[in-house]
Order: sequence, then structure tokens, then C-alpha cells
Amino acid sequence: MTRIIVNANQKGGVGKTTLAINLSSGLARINPRQRVLLVDADPQANATAVFLGIAFAAGPRTHINTIYEVLVEQLPIEQALQQVILAGGDVTLSILPSHLDLASAELELVNTFERERRLSKALAAIQSQFDYIIIDCPPSLGLLTLNALMAAREVLIPVDPGFFPLIGLNLLHKTIEMVRQSNPGLHILGIVPTLQDRTALARDTVEQLQEAFGKQLLPAIPRRVAIGEAHAAGQDIFAYDGNGDSAEAFNALLQEVMARG
Ligand code: ADP
Ligand code: MG
Repeated sequence: MTRIIVNANQKGGVGKTTLAINLSSGLARINPRQRVLLVDADPQANATAVFLGIAFAAGPRTHINTIYEVLVEQLPIEQALQQVILAGGDVTLSILPSHLDLASAELELVNTFERERRLSKALAAIQSQFDYIIIDCPPSLGLLTLNALMAAREVLIPVDPGFFPLIGLNLLHKTIEMVRQSNPGLHILGIVPTLQDRTALARDTVEQLQEAFGKQLLPAIPRRVAIGEAHAAGQDIFAYDGNGDSAEAFNALLQEVMARG
């Protein structure tokens, strides 16, 4: 069965997109028979920029279909999917790209029927073609994130252990509980400490997260310059610095994610 995993936290800068990029590419690389789709549901289109270039994510858009057309104009999703050959290998990742224009979608959808089910309906048409669908959310709990939560079964919550990660998780939990009334299969796959520093504060916070979440706490990702550099180079961490400890951390996370399916 297809696993649909959404990456949610209404805070910005907590490593959501980094996680979506390296989780989707890592799942495709670790077993090339695994078919993986990355859905970019963020108008900032950062994941799209990494894999398809900034011109695609933010440039003029004649003839390019994105998640905007799928959600707002109900374009068949097949017509918006892009295939990316991952750097350094012959592994393919499918992407439903985003574009800056998606920023207006929340307003444009306000008065439409079942506006929170648009992504779920679109994915239903193609989900059997994939083993994993990873959805990257914007930093808010608005209609785009709601569409993502309605379409998914599992939620990964990235948290920055340096920045009061427990504040805001209550709100996210409440949102997930609310969505479960319409999408009862939705559950938390795990909490991922991202941007983990080598400081006492970060260690203490991860201990607190361990107490609060127990087995839901997943392997942490260290803060490393290579991760930002990889984005700038348009690559995932496995292509950019495959032998470094950040790739190793992502591999540990991948193993846990696959084991919990
Ligand atoms: P979000 O999607 O939650 O806003 P991002 O994944 O875009 O967060 O990360 C925010 C910024 O932090 C980006 O510039 C990204 O390159 C950087 N970043 C994310 N994770 C790490 C990490 N583990 N080490 C170093 N920089 C990181
Ligand atoms: Mg992001």
C-alpha cells in the first residue's frame, strides 16, 4: 500500500523542506524499485527550486503546470508531474512541483466545494503508481496544509531543538485531531529533531522530547553546512556529501521510517 507522509509544522525554518527533499530522494536511492513522488505544497517552492531550478519555481510560467493548476483548476495531476534524474545515479524521483503563484490558491479556493479535499482527490488518481508520496507543507496551518493532512496517512513533525520546539506542537496536535474527524487514518509517524547543534541546550531539549514522545522520537539530523550547500547545488545530501555524517543521519532516519510502515 502507498505510504503518504506529510511533513508538517507551522513554524518556518525548522527543516521541513530539507527533510522532504532528503527523505524522498533517500527512499528512491535506497531501493531504486521504490517509486517515490515528492509533492511540493509550499508556495515558497523551495523543494521545487532544488530539484528543478529557481527559474522553474519562481520564474514566468507559460506552459508549465504545477500543483497550482491541479488544486485550483483541477487539472489532471498526470499533466503536472515532472521526472527528475537524481544527481550521481540513474535513480528517478517524481515531483509535483510548486510555484510562487500557489500563494494565491488559498484565497482562490475559499468558496469552492470540498476545498480541503482537492489534493486528496488528485492523488487518488495516481497513488497506486507510487510506494511513497512525501508532501512538503508551507509554514502555516492554512488550507494548503489542511489539503496535505487530508491527503496523508502519516505525519512527520520536524522540530528545531534549539528553538522551544514544544511551543506550537499543541496547536499542531489539535489540528491533527480535528483533521482525523474526516481522515481517521491520519496518525503521527514521528518527531524528527532537525538542526541539532552540539550544545547542552540541544541535548537537553532532545531529552525532553524523548520524555514527551518516547518511541515517536526519530533519529536526529545534525546542523551541518553541507546540508545548505547541497540545496544551493541543486542536490540532495546523498549526492552532495554521501559519506558525511549528515547523510548518515538521514540514512538512519530512512531506515526507521521504512521499518515503521
Ligand atoms: P522549513 O521548510 O521548515 O522552512 P528548511 O528545510 O527550508 O525549513 O530549512 C531552513 C533553513 O535551514 C534552510 O536554509 C536550510 O538549508 C537550513 N537547514 C535545514 N536543515 C539544516 C541542517 N540540518 N543543517 C544546516 N542547515 C539546515
Ligand atoms: Mg519549507
